[in-house]
Amino acid sequence: MQLKTILNRVQKFKSFVYGNIRWVEDAKAPTIEAELRSRTNSRPVCSGCSHKRRGYDRLPMRRFEFVPMWGIKVFFLYAPRRVDCPTCGIRVERMPWSEGKHRLTETYAWFLAGWAKRLSWKEVAEAFRTTWDHVFCSVEMAVTWGKEHRDLSGIGAIGIDEIQWQRGHKYLTLVYQIDAECRRLLWIGKKRKVKTLLGFFRWFGKERTRKLDYICSDMWKPYLRVIAKKAGHAIHILDRFHIMANLSKAIDKVRAQEVKELKDKGYDAVLTKSRWLLLKRPENLTEKQETKLADLLQYNLKSIRSYLLKEEFQLFWSYKSPYWAGRFLDKWCTKTMRSKIEPMKDIARSLRQHRPLLLNWFRAKGQFSTGIVEGFNNKAKLTTRKAYGFKTYHAAEIALYHALGALPVPKVAHEFF
Ligand SMILES: [Zn+2]
Repeated sequence: MQLKTILNRVQKFKSFVYGNIRWVEDAKAPTIEAELRSRTNSRPVCSGCSHKRRGYDRLPMRRFEFVPMWGIKVFFLYAPRRVDCPTCGIRVERMPWSEGKHRLTETYAWFLAGWAKRLSWKEVAEAFRTTWDHVFCSVEMAVTWGKEHRDLSGIGAIGIDEIQWQRGHKYLTLVYQIDAECRRLLWIGKKRKVKTLLGFFRWFGKERTRKLDYICSDMWKPYLRVIAKKAGHAIHILDRFHIMANLSKAIDKVRAQEVKELKDKGYDAVLTKSRWLLLKRPENLTEKQETKLADLLQYNLKSIRSYLLKEEFQLFWSYKSPYWAGRFLDKWCTKTMRSKIEPMKDIARSLRQHRPLLLNWFRAKGQFSTGIVEGFNNKAKLTTRKAYGFKTYHAAEIALYHALGALPVPKVAHEFF
């Protein structure tokens, strides 16, 4: 079987044929070049308007990288024609294997983008002996195509979340679709301001917003304001993940303060190395940690009392009826307000303030599993943290859409990976 036969099987182009195929001597890596030629008498297609036009002239030969085979690099060689188009002027013809000025064929770009879902961009570049930039361009192409072709109908529930990225207090706002049948990242915005989320609703459009039934978010004020203004009709839920995360943050604060106080008073540092004990659920502790927790519980420390308050609060989520959940919440808040532990009192205050939104959790019960937003949050953090080597917002955005957007892929691209 000839190589030409194989190429015609896997990648045939209408109006173009394969010409000479040769092994390139003296190349740095093993390389094959395959010439492409336009069919005799075929007229070139204008890249501006997609109409067949009269040929004008021919440009020098260009190389387009194709999917490598057996560790051998494969290039297509083609001298593009230019057309004399009455609408667009003198233009380069459209080539079905490549878009615009890219040096990679589209098939190869889809191939790289596919691998970039499983490996880091650096690993993909190494595995296929290409550059980080080529991987980036490929993923960017896949994301652009996917966003243009995704279906945004039937979105009933969204979750709004923020993640920190880069160092310092830099945030991204992420909006997910969290319907049972479709969960994906829909939108990314810079920062976490009123303006940010307004940007989402502007993009999402009034028509789709009207069809939203549920919105999950944390207690971040700018988000609450925008949601009330733009989607007042939807049931707004403060979700479990964010509330428990806030409680953990409060405990962390109490502990840090107390460690310092104890040290200043010259007490033994019973609380050092106890951070994870107090943040983990009891069922997740190791045996050694369990013993240490039992030790700690003998002391009437603020940290310990905060920890117990948090553990008690877990019960809240097990209620079935909003009424009884509300009663529990009120009691817990009263108790916490009397604890004289400031960070915990702050939490109780804000829970009281958002009582109706919290109880919406029970009204929407059964609609969402608790872990959706949390799962996305972890994956998003991992994506931005992983050594993708991106410094810019644009690259982070592309990486997040690629990893979490569940974006569609054209049919032809499936055949190569
Ligand atoms: Zn044209």
